[in-house]
Amino acid sequence: LTTTDLIEEHRICVCVRKRPLNKKELTVKDLDVITIPSKDVVMVHEPKQKVDLTRYLENQTFRFDYAFDDSTTNEMVYRFTARPLVETIFDRGMATCFAYGQTGSGKTHTMGGDFSGKNQDCSKGIYALAARDVFLMLKKPNYKKLDLQVYATFFEIYSGKVFDLLNRKAKLRVLEDGKQQVQVVGLQEREVKCTEDVLKLIETGNSCRTSGQTSANAHSSRSHAVFQIILRRKGKMHGKFSLIDLAGNERGADTSSADRQTRLEGAEINKSLLALKIATISPGMTSCENTLNTLRYANRVKEL
Ligand code: ADP
Ligand code: MG
Repeated sequence: LTTTDLIEEHRICVCVRKRPLNKKELTVKDLDVITIPSKDVVMVHEPKQKVDLTRYLENQTFRFDYAFDDSTTNEMVYRFTARPLVETIFDRGMATCFAYGQTGSGKTHTMGGDFSGKNQDCSKGIYALAARDVFLMLKKPNYKKLDLQVYATFFEIYSGKVFDLLNRKAKLRVLEDGKQQVQVVGLQEREVKCTEDVLKLIETGNSCRTSGQTSANAHSSRSHAVFQIILRRKGKMHGKFSLIDLAGNERGADTSSADRQTRLEGAEINKSLLALKIATISPGMTSCENTLNTLRYANRVKEL
């Protein structure tokens, strides 16, 4: 890589995905206040009222690397976001892909996939789609001769603590070595041979993540989930892909654990040679304020 390539490759790519209005929002006739007029523009049409009570829409425009409307499939989102990063890990790089957004806006649907059966399209998410392409890449002659092994890890960061989702939620220690390298001690790496193996791990991890919780969303709104695909050659790390389903962003940064979590996230970002963010948004008028927060934040990330 030349210096110019490195600078270009360091840039964070920011995409926003709008989900469709759900049954509940349709039932209460919530308004869809989001439009995606072109493939990189998101518009928010916020209903406002003047002092004389006349109503109007305040329109705000945001531009990103990609904007995906509510008809976009996981496969399409994947193709324009995480797909190029699969090459990166084969070329010995570190890649990171985050989903950031309000609880209920579609982070887990996008990253982990949706196997609940509630939706008609039981679709694979970015974890599984990336794994599928890793196994396809392994078959290419150039990479086949490297004799790479594939491993997966799945852990959760909850209130500043790290738990192994592939080992009955064992609490793990995190070491920061002062060189912006973060190490999770004792994290289980499971060897995976095919996409099916990965789907099983996702399922194990997900059920472990929410066990004993009253609602999956109540828990995931406060915890980050990290799924990693690691390539090893003769035992040594060759490349690593971190796929992160972040905690809901609707909470203020006022919780006691926020500092540590923010630092961990920051360290994770710095550690990556190549980083990429995705943001997901809800279309409903009732989510307008959260949606604007998400878009403003995503907008700032573009400049990193
Ligand atoms: P989050 O992880 O951001 O809290 P979820 O991914 O759990 O949100 O999504 C909330 C609900 O909306 C789920 O029932 C999910 O199936 C549904 N959903 C999210 N995104 C989409 C989408 N693009 N298409 C259809 N349903 C979606
Ligand atoms: Mg979620």
